[in-house]
Amino acid sequence: MPCSFREIYLDANATTPVLPAAAEAAREAMMLGFGNPSSAHCTGLKAKALMESVRAKAAKVLGSGAGKLLFVSGATEGIQTAVLSALCALKERRERGETIGTELLYGATEHKAVPETLKHWNRLLGLNLHVLAIPVAENGRHDLDFLSQHLPQAALVATMAANNETGVISDLAAIEALLNAQQSRAYWLVDSVQALGKLALNLAATRIDYAPFSGHKLYAPKGIGLLYVRQGAPFTPLMAGGGQESGLRSGTENLAGMAALGAVLDALLSGRDFQPRASLEAYREQLAEALGEAFPGLSFNAPFELSLPTTLNFSVPGFASKELLDLFDAAHIRVSSGSACSSNKAMPSYVLQAMGLPEWRAASAVRLSFGPAATPEFIAAACARIRECGAALRRSCLIASELEPLPGDGVLQLTANGACTWLVSDAASKRCVIIDPLEELTERIEKYVSCQGFQVLAVLDTHGHADHASPRALLMARLDGLLADFARETDHLGWPRRLGTVQLADGLFAPAISLGTKVLARMPLPGHTNDSLGFLLGEPEDGRLSSERVHFAFTGDAILIGGLGRTDFASSSAESLYASLHALRLTIAADTLLCPAHDYNNQFATTLAAEALSGGLLAKVLDEHLPLSLADFVREKRQADARINEHAEVLLCGAVEHCRDLTDMHLKPEALERFFAEHADALLVDVRESYEHALSGQPLNGLPMISIPLSRLTNGLDGWLHGEPRPLVFFCRSGNRSTRAAETLRRLGYAQAWHLAGGLALGQVH
Ligand code: PLP
Repeated sequence: MPCSFREIYLDANATTPVLPAAAEAAREAMMLGFGNPSSAHCTGLKAKALMESVRAKAAKVLGSGAGKLLFVSGATEGIQTAVLSALCALKERRERGETIGTELLYGATEHKAVPETLKHWNRLLGLNLHVLAIPVAENGRHDLDFLSQHLPQAALVATMAANNETGVISDLAAIEALLNAQQSRAYWLVDSVQALGKLALNLAATRIDYAPFSGHKLYAPKGIGLLYVRQGAPFTPLMAGGGQESGLRSGTENLAGMAALGAVLDALLSGRDFQPRASLEAYREQLAEALGEAFPGLSFNAPFELSLPTTLNFSVPGFASKELLDLFDAAHIRVSSGSACSSNKAMPSYVLQAMGLPEWRAASAVRLSFGPAATPEFIAAACARIRECGAALRRSCLIASELEPLPGDGVLQLTANGACTWLVSDAASKRCVIIDPLEELTERIEKYVSCQGFQVLAVLDTHGHADHASPRALLMARLDGLLADFARETDHLGWPRRLGTVQLADGLFAPAISLGTKVLARMPLPGHTNDSLGFLLGEPEDGRLSSERVHFAFTGDAILIGGLGRTDFASSSAESLYASLHALRLTIAADTLLCPAHDYNNQFATTLAAEALSGGLLAKVLDEHLPLSLADFVREKRQADARINEHAEVLLCGAVEHCRDLTDMHLKPEALERFFAEHADALLVDVRESYEHALSGQPLNGLPMISIPLSRLTNGLDGWLHGEPRPLVFFCRSGNRSTRAAETLRRLGYAQAWHLAGGLALGQVH
């Protein structure tokens, strides 16, 4: 797919690039006006004049009137100073015998800097006031009834001007009216970071006591900010020392930052570089339209009429934030899930949770934000790139599509909360079988299967579950039009009643489903439960499926990676499991890929050979020289199951161990070229999803490359473990997914596996 590599930066609420005029002003201040504003000589006086001129411009933009405006390092410092000032005053008033109230109130959607600072100084100063969130309505605005009820007890109220995740603009006028109506003595802190340059401000005309601002959210560099303090509001310096800023904030000033901020304020005052509100709203409409086309069913998480026009927060049904972020990043569009501080973690957005939005929306949220200096060309390019993202998802069958899908063949692993569904397909005959369907994946499976135009031959469970019903019936109902006729009449685990057989390596005849040139044969594998089954996928020859021709074995919860499935349920039997393991050994090869029903640590698959090396219980059972006796197995298995209960966590189905001492597999980006020069037959393997691969063009120029997403890694393993070994270098966006791929290959005995440390983010070669 043609795609320019130019980055489309749409994460302005996290930080912005520096305006060229601001960078130039900073450079000039560093090279020429580098004086210390406290020095008495001319160089110092010039520096002081520059500083005061910036303060005067800020006073004009903010309407700070007779209030103080002091330079700080950023909003977090401004918030510290404001909270410290208010809380020290409260402490003094209480010590003088005044009633100060019992509650420190903050909006439930505040940036974490506010509640965390309140808790911090409340504890350090020994105030022990109750730090309490003001709930917000579904539109993101403060619950004014709650505020009204709590104001009589409030010692401080913190309500941001506009929210960084959703862009929702607070109704500050209504909050002020409440404070006035109740003649509240509470101090009022308004985090105004996201308002600067986007909303008209006239601070001195309000009763706001403290308003912090941050330069890097509006085209100034990081490390410079402002704090407004209303005339007469209490003040305690956070930093004492040389007495700079009239003793309000000691420390030699960040003159370069101030100069840059001055240039941004100039641009704001002149209207140069910044777009009027009507243009910003038109940009938002264009982006919303492109998003709606790319992601059918998307919902916007905040009402546009109450939000900054520069922030769009949306969710797409069926996609986690992380998946959407990976998709955008592959298309070189930088967006964020929630706030930048928490977006590395796969946590649902607390802001959207506070708004009472459904859990799926909080877990799928993406924030797209641009700055008020955005140009029409930039927005048009962003819209075009967003539409490319939608097309890539359609080709990957993740959203319904009329586009020709990328062919799906072989084994696909889908996971949810450590459990796996395996989808086995034959692209030539367009047929598939689904093994161990998970309820969470129903929609995704349905979309994928119907987009690929597959006929479903069976939906199988590897065993019955005592604690929940299988979602098999639900999935079969959703797939009704795609089911083969014989797939409708099945036993209790989904096996069709009328099918042929194939002879397994142990000589027994097993029922089998044909899938192109392959078969899926069923064998009993009791142990984890009495009804447990194994499904063997291979290419039979003359009606016989010899062990070497079994490529994959779907063993449910009998064998997990690094351990055996538990056998301490009412329907379990360790004795049966012992027999099943021996039976399995006779029907499959040492390097047949075992595909488990649970994969807690993203290790994909294992083999009997790899398990034999792990030293676990399975290794002891399979030991050719001194196999574990049945009695010893049963005893050790009981002990192993007891250990699972001690470390309950989520490991409900069996013990699992990590395998992570693989320090020499990390290849630094700067070593890549040399590595390829030294290994002529090396191959890069992109393990990102196929839509990410399609979107990012040729990220590592000229080097031989294939795309095998992690969900299809097991398919790749089959070819690599049985083919001619060659050096493989896995890569992804950040190095996390590629680590897992390389570790898996090493664990399975494939020594020539490396990964690109730090991922494309560090290793991109254009
Ligand atoms: N408050 C809000 C609303 C923000 O968006 C941010 C930055 O994400 C901060 C405070 C913290 O600002 P700084 O990075 O300047 O400390």
